[in-house]
Amino acid sequence: MILGAIADDLTGATDLALILSRNGMRVVQVIGVPASLDAIAQKADAVVVALKSRTIPADQAIATSLAAARALKAAGARQLFFKYCSTFDSTDSGNIGPVAAALMEEVGTDTTIVCPSFPENGRTVYKGHLFVFDQLISDSPMKDHPLTPMRDSDLVQVLSRQTDKPVHLIPHETVQQGHEAIVGALRPGLSIIDAITDHDLQTIGRAVADLPLITGGSAAAMGLPKVYRERGLVGALSPGAGFTAPHGRGVILAGSCSAMTRRQIIAAKKAGVSTLHLDALKIASGETTRETVVDFVEAQSAATPPLVYSSADPAVVAQAQAELGQMRAGEIVEDLLAGVATRLAAQGFTRIISAGGETSGAVVAALGISALQIGPEIDPGVPWVAALDSERPLCLALKSGNFGSEDFFIKAWGMLA
Ligand code: ADP
Repeated sequence: MILGAIADDLTGATDLALILSRNGMRVVQVIGVPASLDAIAQKADAVVVALKSRTIPADQAIATSLAAARALKAAGARQLFFKYCSTFDSTDSGNIGPVAAALMEEVGTDTTIVCPSFPENGRTVYKGHLFVFDQLISDSPMKDHPLTPMRDSDLVQVLSRQTDKPVHLIPHETVQQGHEAIVGALRPGLSIIDAITDHDLQTIGRAVADLPLITGGSAAAMGLPKVYRERGLVGALSPGAGFTAPHGRGVILAGSCSAMTRRQIIAAKKAGVSTLHLDALKIASGETTRETVVDFVEAQSAATPPLVYSSADPAVVAQAQAELGQMRAGEIVEDLLAGVATRLAAQGFTRIISAGGETSGAVVAALGISALQIGPEIDPGVPWVAALDSERPLCLALKSGNFGSEDFFIKAWGMLA
């Protein structure tokens, strides 16, 4: 393992994992702090530990981040990356500064960078000020974020209120002069670094490839794989490297009621996929059970995966919620789909496509999976992943509701052919 990353939330972890994987690194994403990463480290150039620490108190965020750092270091990580949001989500009592400072102590360094810039998503840093597209973040809707309102765009000021360590600025003029100029400008403490283009981030990547600790948004990692490759630390450029899909049967489980998922279901039907629609009320009454659904799936042709979906338009969902309660309606559908996934996996199914954020969370939790090898990207933000800690070989495509193009299900399956 070359890079060990600690991400402060799950989707941010996937974001970072994909940036590294797209650039040819073998990446494993781990959900929560693992007891040991030794076995996983054999199969990965980078391990991204997904925490849920963005908005928790600083002392707790430090504790969980240090535990992740120690597991990564123990498994051989040469360099650590602390990943936070490109909108620098934190308050004056926020934990980015305290966690960065604690990680510096942990790895024994007095120097790191702070680089939230993500130009592709409109986040840039200039003269130490964070912009969201054309606005300072303090003028953007982020100023009213319910948990982390960003009322000050000057990151030197924001970070200085969070940590006792010195906070500096490496201005864009220096970044433009190239990586050696950046290295020359690094001083003890936390250096906010201006970056307004991907080219800047590539230059920064080259400058910081030897720092024991880097902190930033996921895009701050984009320059690293190339440098690692030049040094012979990672193999040839092949996105999704390290992922292999097990042969076997598949199923598509959709619990998302989002507009895009419903369009994807229509597209799958048109393409001839066999489907089973689940009615939340029939699940509640016991008319539809895990067994009836599994029997349906088993009876279909093995050539293409059948689609089981509870997805429905808002009026149908509202009626189920009126009768069952909003929470219970969601839970019984999630429980059923997760139960179907575990039963099919136990019966030898090896490929599961799941639509819906909560639905996918329930499926992964029921399967008891916490380590995922990142595979090829199906649509932006959605890779195939292989479970590394399930009893049997299993790969999954986990899509949040509105992600993916209309032909997502067909495309995902086709990629494994
Ligand atoms: P998305 O990513 O689109 O938000 P989620 O899976 O996160 O999808 O959320 C969808 C929620 O709706 C889940 O809790 C799911 O169980 C619930 N749900 C799905 N189908 C129905 C239905 N027919 N009636 C009521 N709730 C449903």
